Parts: sequence; C-alpha cells; structure tokens
Amino acid sequence: MPTKSRIRELQEEILKLKKNENVFIAAHNYQRPEIQEIADVLGDSLELAMLAQKNIECDIIVFCGVDFMAETMSILNPDAQVYVPEPKAKCPMATMCPKSIVEKAKKEHPDLPVVLYVNTLAEAKAEADVMCTSANAAKVVEALGSDKILFGPDANLAAYVEKRTGVKTIPVPEDGYCIVHVRFTADKILELKNKYPDAIVLVHPECDMEVQEVADVVASTSQMLKYVQDSKEKKFIIGTETGLIDRMRREVSENKIFIPASETAVCRNMKLNTLEKIRDVIISKPHKNLIKVPENIAEKARNALEKMFELTR
Ligand code: SF4
Repeated sequence: MPTKSRIRELQEEILKLKKNENVFIAAHNYQRPEIQEIADVLGDSLELAMLAQKNIECDIIVFCGVDFMAETMSILNPDAQVYVPEPKAKCPMATMCPKSIVEKAKKEHPDLPVVLYVNTLAEAKAEADVMCTSANAAKVVEALGSDKILFGPDANLAAYVEKRTGVKTIPVPEDGYCIVHVRFTADKILELKNKYPDAIVLVHPECDMEVQEVADVVASTSQMLKYVQDSKEKKFIIGTETGLIDRMRREVSENKIFIPASETAVCRNMKLNTLEKIRDVIISKPHKNLIKVPENIAEKARNALEKMFELTR
C-alpha cells in the first residue's frame, strides 16, 4: 500500500501526463479511492456506457474497471483508442456466460427475447436482443412487452426483474452470480439494523433475494448515490462493493454516516488497477492493453446496446 505522499506524487504525475497526452480517464465506482480522485468521470456501468454518446475529445481513453466495461466503451466508440491499466482485471460473472450458453438457451426457447446484463463479454452481447444495466433492467424488460424472457447472467438480478415487472425470467446460465454481492447475508443486515435502528438499508440487486427482502431500497450504485445525497436521513447501511462507500464519504455531506453491510465486499478484480499501472499505460501504451472488439462481433453487440438506449429514452 503506497504512502499518502507517494499517492499524491503519482496522482500529480498522472494529471500532468493526462494533460500533455490528451487522455481521458473513465473509472467505475468500485475503483480504489486514489483512482476515483483523478478520474475525469466516475460512474456505474450505465453512466460509463452513456459516455460514448458524448463525443469525448481526447487521443486515448484509459478505462479503469473490468474487461467487459472497457469492451463496451470500445464497441460504442469504434474509433477511440481504449486502453486498460491491467488486462487481467476481468469480471468472473461475465465469464460465467460464454456465447455457447446463450446460443443453447436460444435454441431451447427460440421465441423468447434475450435480455443480457452489460456484465457480459462482447461475444455474449452479440447474441442478445437488448442489453440492460442494474439501473434500467426493469424499465428495459417492461418496454419489451413480452411476458417471458431469457435473462443473464446474474440470477439475482433476474429474480429482482421478475419481482418488479411480473415478467417471467429464465436465467441464463441457471446460477450466474457476482462473487462479491453474494457475500452479503440477511442475518448480518438484520444484526446491523438492530445495532443502528435509524439507518436506511440500501442493497444492490446482485445480492441474494433474502438480502433484497430485508433492505429498504434495492438500487444500482448510481441510484444509491443519488438516494443518499437527496435523503434527509443521516445513517445508511450500504450493501455493495466498498468502493462506492469511499465515493459517498468523499462526495456526500460530512454529517451522513455510511456503514458497510460487509467489510469484505471488495472486488479484487476491480482493485487490480493501480495508479502506477495507469501512469505506465499512458507512457508506453502497450498493445496488450489496447481493447479492440472484432467488428463482426462489435456490430451485433452495438445493436443490442443501442436497443437498450432506444427502450429507455
Ligand atoms: S463486483 Fe461483481 S459484477 Fe462487478 S466486476 Fe466484480 S465480480 Fe464482476
């Protein structure tokens, strides 16, 4: 763990390089706090995907998140040079849903629309009719107007969508999950509620249904941030990756208290990105860190992402 002064030094070095080389840094809410502090934009998957429509003027984008997010950025910005600080930062949930599993489900249910969560690799996105994020999943599914759908890869998000919309969801695969969000338990949340009876409990829809059921609010990270900013309450129990709590503590009023629903809810894959790696990728731009999706796959994946924007406009 670098010291505070080393962090400051690296941040200043990156800010200088960023200016000289016309670099734009996009970072997910689960990134380390020192990365969040130097990002040009910080957000959840939906906010970061929407960036693509904003014609960012820069020579390169450094995307701090995991593999599928950088792929999405590249798919929606085919002319941009999208680099990642650490190519090994991959989302285990996305790897649970290879193209072959989606193809098999489509063969078994040829009449059902395929809705996939953005937490999928490009090869799976290319098999979807429409994409969704945790922020807009229910809205996308309602707008489709179908009474049954194939939904992947997160089975908890599928259950949340089914509960919210009444649309029957067939999970693809049957048991896809986020290794971080399944660590939250209803027992621990009830224990915290007992200890802090005036706290509001917010959890992510990637948590198990028993956890969602004991929460006051089930929301994506951007929705959680807005909720705590707007709320008159003072104490919040937060059931998502701890990076969002770092952001809340930095950006929301000092009078508000954020209690992690689990101290161990850390996505090690997200945390593989570091300031040193960001600096190095800007300096040497190694080919292995450049994200490019083959155009035949990117085109189909882009259609599914654009359908999501169309249905939620
Ligand atoms: S928090 Fe979960 S869904 Fe997000 S990148 Fe980590 S493993 Fe994947």
